[in-house]
This record gives sequence, C-alpha cells and structure tokens, in this order.
Amino acid sequence: MYDYVIIGGGIVGVSTAWQLQQRRPDSSILLIEKESEFAQHQTGRNSGVVHSGIYYTPGSLKARFCRLGVEETISFCHKNDIAIEQCGKLIVATNEVEYERMLALYERAHENGLEVELLDAVMLKAREPNVKGSGAIFLRTTGIVDYPGMTRKMAALFCDLGGQTQLNSKVVGINETNNMVDITLADGIHVEAKHLVVCAGLMADRLAIMQGLDIDFRVIPYRGEYYQLPPDKNNIVKHLIYPVPNPLVPFLGIHLTRMIDGSVTIGPNALQGYKREGYGRLNFSVVDTLAMISFPGFWNVLRKNFRSGLCEFWNSIWKRGYLKQVNKYCPSITISDLKPYPTGIRAMTVHRDGSLIDDFLMIDSPRTLHVCNAPSPAATSAIPIGNHICDKILKE
Ligand SMILES: Cc1cc2nc3c(=O)[nH]c(=O)nc-3n(C[C@H](O)[C@H](O)[C@H](O)COP(=O)(O)OP(=O)(O)OC[C@H]3O[C@@H](n4cnc5c(N)ncnc54)[C@H](O)[C@@H]3O)c2cc1C
Repeated sequence: MYDYVIIGGGIVGVSTAWQLQQRRPDSSILLIEKESEFAQHQTGRNSGVVHSGIYYTPGSLKARFCRLGVEETISFCHKNDIAIEQCGKLIVATNEVEYERMLALYERAHENGLEVELLDAVMLKAREPNVKGSGAIFLRTTGIVDYPGMTRKMAALFCDLGGQTQLNSKVVGINETNNMVDITLADGIHVEAKHLVVCAGLMADRLAIMQGLDIDFRVIPYRGEYYQLPPDKNNIVKHLIYPVPNPLVPFLGIHLTRMIDGSVTIGPNALQGYKREGYGRLNFSVVDTLAMISFPGFWNVLRKNFRSGLCEFWNSIWKRGYLKQVNKYCPSITISDLKPYPTGIRAMTVHRDGSLIDDFLMIDSPRTLHVCNAPSPAATSAIPIGNHICDKILKE
C-alpha cells in the first residue's frame, strides 16, 4: 500500500510527485506512466516556450500560475543545468484590426503586472530586420526551454528522494473504497494507494470516467502541426515572433519559435484530431472518434468554429496557405524553407454545451484528485501547479 500514487509522467505529474516527496519525505510515493519514457505526449511535443502570462484573464489560475511559473522554471533550470534562455517575444500587428487588438493586449499585460514595451513599425524593424508590422508588443521575460529535459530531471530528483517510478504501465482500472484506492494495470497487477493523483493529459476524462466520476466534459484532441526552417535560416529572428491572437479562437496563431537547440520552428496550427495520441497525418482511431462524435459538446464546438476549422484544414493540406500566415509578418520565408517537424496534440476540454474550459480544472473525491484540464501554459506553470496540487491533497 503506497501513501500516494500519481498517474502520468508528463511535466504536471512529475512535478507533483517530486514536490510531494520533498514535502512528505517519509511517505511512499509511486509515479506510474504508460510509455517507456517521460514526457512523450504534450510535454515533449510543444513549442518549448516559457510564457510570460500576457494573454490570460487577470485573477485566473492560468494568469497566477504562469507568473509564478516563469520565475520557478528559470530558477529550477539554473540550479539543475537545464538549457533555458530568456530571448524575449514580439507580438506583431500587421493590420488595423490586429493593431487595435494588440492595444487591448497591452492593457491586459499591465493588468497582469507584466513589464511590456510598445513598439512602432520603425522600432520593430530595428529589433527584427526580417519582420514587418505596423507595431508590436515586446515581452522581455518570455523564454525557451527544454521541457522534456526538465521533466526527466524532476523525475531523477524524485527518485533521489526515495520516490519510485514505474514506466510501461498503463492504468486500466481505478476503484476507490472507504480505505484506499485500488489501481489496476494493463498486465493485471493491482497497486493500492491511500491517495491518488491523476495527471493524464489527453486521457484525463477517460481516467475520471474509469473511476466512475460523474463529469460533464470531454477531451477533444486538436493537432498542432509544425514546420522547421533549414539551418541556414536559424538566425532569421532574434526573438519569438507571434501574431496578435484572434480573440474568437482559443489558440495563439502560427508563430516563429526559436527552439532551445538553436533551430527555428513555425507553428502550430489547430486542426481537429481523430486519434488522441496519434501523431501521423492519417492517424485515426475508431474508439476516439466515436467517443468524440457521440458527445454533444463536440458538435457545438464544430458549429461555432466551422469556418476557422475549414481554413485550418485547408492550410494544413495546402502548404502555401500555411506559409501565407507566416509571410504576413516574415515575408522572406519561402515554401522550400518549410521542412517537416513532429506534430503535437493539445487536450482541449469541452463542456457538454460546447463551451471550452479555458482555465485549469481539478476535480476530487475523498481519496483522489484528477487534473482534468491543464492547457497551455501548463508546461511553464508546472512547478506552481504541482505545488498547488500538494497543498490541496495535504490539506484534505
Ligand atoms: C502543440 C502544443 C504546443 C504547446 N506549447 C506550449 C508552450 O510553448 N509552453 C507551455 O507552457 N505549454 C505549451 N503547451 C501546453 C503544454 O505542453 C501542456 O499543457 C503540458 O505539457 C501538459 O502536461 P501534462 O503533464 O498535463 O500532460 P502530458 O504531457 O500529456 O502527460 C500526460 C501523461 O499521462 C500519461 N497517461 C495517460 N493515460 C495514462 C494511463 N492510463 N496510464 C498511465 N499513464 C497515462 C501519458 O502517457 C502522458 O505521459 C503546448 C501543447 C501543445 C500540444
């Protein structure tokens, strides 16, 4: 019988396990992950950006955790020799509508207590000669990092403190009784715990349902396809370059991202997925698709976002359409510069009525806590989220 079991070897689960073991050094804690390595899903397939927190509703958990997350991520990486760089970010407006939206974002940055600079077209050109726009917001604190490296390091620190990890172990059953939680693994082995924390990313709703919790939301997978620039274009920008996001769409738009290994990626788009953890373009799962289309919330999302969804689909199959979105602010990139790069899949959590759950969402029962929604910037915020989860379970 373990004191605590944590399911999910992404950055949220690993951060929680590591911090819980620090706070309860005498407790027995087991971290279970179904893959053969940590960070194989969202954590290892993202843009690698340490967000500063400009976009989020002031006072939301997202805004609070993100601000704390920047400081704690930087401090963790410096202490543990993980690659990180605060290269700064420019949010670039390319027309009048975007300029107005950019000004609103500038106001929000102040409400969120961030240090930002407003640049006109000439100042933008001086900072980034290859980028054009009518103006930009400059965020000094945004950075880039190696999230899989961070996750592996936290897992190693967890083990050094006495924690145990079990890879290649898929959880297929959760049964909570008055005295304990019984967890069944795919090979038939049972693990018993006094308390359970579930951080299952794209599978979050499935594990909640597996336990018999009554939930009125589901995870809908959204593919994020990237390209990579050839090495001779690695110096095309000095900062991260983002478009001004469309407030009607819950994604940030295709951006130019300097990665921590020195390369530059373009992306991600936001495309309907048909397999939660299937990254190939043609991946399709009957189980995942049936689960999705039988949920009323999916149809409501589809109806609301039909036009933008169609555009994303078209630009995904027509490379020139994809390129056009980057050329708006970086005209010198050409079609031959778009080299293949691995896709990521986001877990979008959707209510039955079709509204998207924008903030972090956790649900609990007497002996379990499920992290049901940990959207971007959950990688940036993983340390404060882990700390918050520890506060919750230790208090209860
Ligand atoms: C394309 C894309 C770009 C993004 N860009 C950024 C960014 O730049 N900055 C940022 O801060 N955030 C970004 N995000 C968001 C961020 O990556 C995620 O919010 C974060 O990684 C979530 O971490 P997690 O641990 O909750 O989930 P995951 O990393 O998905 O981990 C969940 C883990 O649970 C395991 N699991 C699931 N079911 C079971 C089971 N039955 N048994 C055992 N194990 C199980 C999975 O195998 C997986 O390892 C991005 C996300 C995507 C997809």
